[in-house]
Order: sequence, then C-alpha cells, then structure tokens
Amino acid sequence: MRFFVLKKQNISVVLAVVLAVLIAAFAISSPMIVYAVRTVDKTPTIVIDAGHGGADAGVVGKTTGLRESDLNLEIALMLGEMLKGAGYNVVYTRTTDTMLNDVSANTRKRRDMFSRAKIINNAGADVVVSIHMNYYPSSSRRGAQTFFERKDEKSFALATAVQDELNELNLANTQRTYSPLTADKYILSCSSAASIIVECGFLSNPYDEQLLASAEYRARIAEAIAQGIREYFSI
Ligand SMILES: [Zn+2]
Repeated sequence: MRFFVLKKQNISVVLAVVLAVLIAAFAISSPMIVYAVRTVDKTPTIVIDAGHGGADAGVVGKTTGLRESDLNLEIALMLGEMLKGAGYNVVYTRTTDTMLNDVSANTRKRRDMFSRAKIINNAGADVVVSIHMNYYPSSSRRGAQTFFERKDEKSFALATAVQDELNELNLANTQRTYSPLTADKYILSCSSAASIIVECGFLSNPYDEQLLASAEYRARIAEAIAQGIREYFSI
C-alpha cells in the first residue's frame, strides 16, 4: 500500500513535468509568443539628424540673423522627445552645436557627412529624418517641404506621410500645399532606411523667418513630423 502511494506520487510528478515541458514547447512555438518577441525586436529606430552645426551654421535669417544650425537642433531635440514618448528608439547625429569630425577646414564637411552616415548605419535606422531650413534667392518662396530620394518607395511613403502633416501648417500659413520633392543628397542615400530631409521653412522669406523664430511654431513643425512618422509606421 505504501509502495503504491509512493508510485502514484511518482507518476504525478512525471505527469507534471511532462505537462510543463509540453506547455513550454507550445508557448515557444505559439504565434502569439513569436509575435511578442518580434514586436520587441522591431521597435523602430529613428535617427534624427540636425543639419549643420559648429563651424557650419547653414543659412542665416535675413532679418533676425537666426542660424539654421541652431533652429535645426531645437526642432530635432523636440522631435526626439515626442518620438521617445511615442515608444520609438531615438538616435541623434548631434545634440550640441558641433560639427562632427571637425579636424581640417578642407575636408570637414565631407568628414562630417561620413560621421553622420556612420551613426545612421550603426544605429540600424529604420527611418532617417534630416532637419534643415531653406533659403532661396527670391524671397517669395515659403513653406515646409519634404525631400526624398527618387525611386525609393519607402522614403516616398515616409515623405508623403510627413508632407501631409506639414501641409496643414502650410495651408494655414501660406495658403498652399506641396507634394514631396526629390533630391540627390548623400544623407538620403547613405543607408537602406526610409530617409527624408525636412526643410522646415525659408529663412529668405520674412514671414517664414518670423514663424521659425517662434518656439511655438517650431514645436508645431516637430509635432507634424512626429505625426507623419507615426502614420508611416501604422500603414
Ligand atoms: Zn541646411
């Protein structure tokens, strides 16, 4: 009798172990678990590139003297905070007023661009957003425009989503909208990520310059870009 009870207990232990192994095997092969692992792996990484910096101020506002490099950085940092809040991985190419790899005046622009490309590729970027301010000889041009590399479907989809959001600001301020535009730029082609340049407005236009001088407007530009990125990933 005692032996029988012991044996029964042993069988229970064996059954419990077998059951646990089966449950574990099922859990590992279950689509739900695989999906959860993929979701964690696929948290998108957004590289935010504040154009120019350090010795390279970019363009300068006609009446305010505002430097493009400073405005780019402010919008880049705001955008990064918004995207982090939305759950994305955010990597910046710069977070201070610096030029990357600033060693000699002759080669520094090229070295700066190579350093940005290295950050983008090391981060395994899914999206690259390069922030800039525009300037044109004729002061009448204005508005926020998005550029992508021709024939790159991912980048076109991203550019369209971001431009759609920016067009709400464009309509309110300039009574016109833009379609995404193509550009042949190194930052757009240096990785396989969906990549765009956002020219947030024209520092050669007094109205755009006034808008871009306002922190509130810069925050609205950042919010429009963040919203476009969220929409790109939800497609
Ligand atoms: Zn620029």
